Amino acid sequence: MSWIDLRSDTLTLPTEKMRSAMASAELGDDVYGEDPTINRLQELAAARMGKEAALFVPSGTMGNLAAVLAHCGRGDEVIMGNFAHTYIYEAGGISALGGVHPFTIPNQPDGTLLKCDIKQAIREDNPHFPISKLLILENTHNRCGGVSLSRAYMLEAAQIAREGGLAIHLDGARIFNAAIDQDVPVVDLVDMVDSVTFCLSKGLCAPVGSVLCGSQEFIAKAHRVRKQLGGGMRQAGVLAAAGIIALEEMVDRLSEDHQRAEALAAGLREVPGLLLDKGSPNTNMVYVKIEENQGLTAQECAARLKEEGVLVGITGSRHFRMVCHYWIRDDHVPVVIKAFKKALFV
Ligand SMILES: *Cc1c(COP(=O)(O)O)cnc(C)c1O
Repeated sequence: MSWIDLRSDTLTLPTEKMRSAMASAELGDDVYGEDPTINRLQELAAARMGKEAALFVPSGTMGNLAAVLAHCGRGDEVIMGNFAHTYIYEAGGISALGGVHPFTIPNQPDGTLLKCDIKQAIREDNPHFPISKLLILENTHNRCGGVSLSRAYMLEAAQIAREGGLAIHLDGARIFNAAIDQDVPVVDLVDMVDSVTFCLSKGLCAPVGSVLCGSQEFIAKAHRVRKQLGGGMRQAGVLAAAGIIALEEMVDRLSEDHQRAEALAAGLREVPGLLLDKGSPNTNMVYVKIEENQGLTAQECAARLKEEGVLVGITGSRHFRMVCHYWIRDDHVPVVIKAFKKALFV
């Protein structure tokens, strides 16, 4: 069975062009700095983000962890949202491995942190307190429904952090979705931060990898941290080859995923018994829930959808997430809507 797999854009398989680029990639030992394909990817990524340097890492999680450990020492504190990916979904790595203390403030439904909350979270110099070192922002904001944050907001948040003497890291796993959504060059969403991680392996379809970007000095530190974490890879140009195509050829088409998310949401909105989350869809994500009066759990509904070849992410007792990506086509949209109608007996 060929699935319509909407669980995540991480499920994207590499394109044919990526597979052939991987097969013929020029390789070397990257721990010696001698993999030409990785070096090229890092140069492209740095240029794209308007930063001095870049570091290829195996995952977004390692990119964020290496960033935090390069910015902070043990006992330092990082301010971030209570729905931040780094806080919820990265296995507590910053504390477990770095001794870095998280200070969470509430994420607003639009993915932002209130400026007054950021300001209040920055600690004064007092031996009782951990030392405030870093603010983490996330764009697009995953747990807040894939919403994108504007340049205006990013500038304001960054300015508050700077005034408090903090550095700013952006978890930009899907920063290109944000740039496409706002119709701005990606540099406009990252020029105010010190460091940014973005994923090649989500909507951009590469099989593995993320890139961490920042100043020369910062990336030199992060490079050592990557080695400590066991992320020094050898002939990983086979992966970077797909990453280059991701960066050069897969960014502009993200708008198609956003349009399909709109179409999917428009169809699901008309299905009795289903409710779209407030604000949904955002970028490539659609969040819906089954109405209370339907005697059906998300698990049961997902099992019925699966019988129709449709896979969805379960995010709560009645809640689903669907993420559009390269392998979701226009003609899949009506199939998904029909599958929901059948699952809900309407
Ligand atoms: C996917 C994601 C990451 C990194 O995840 P990996 O699976 O480690 O690549 C980080 N932040 C956000 C917001 C993400 O969506």
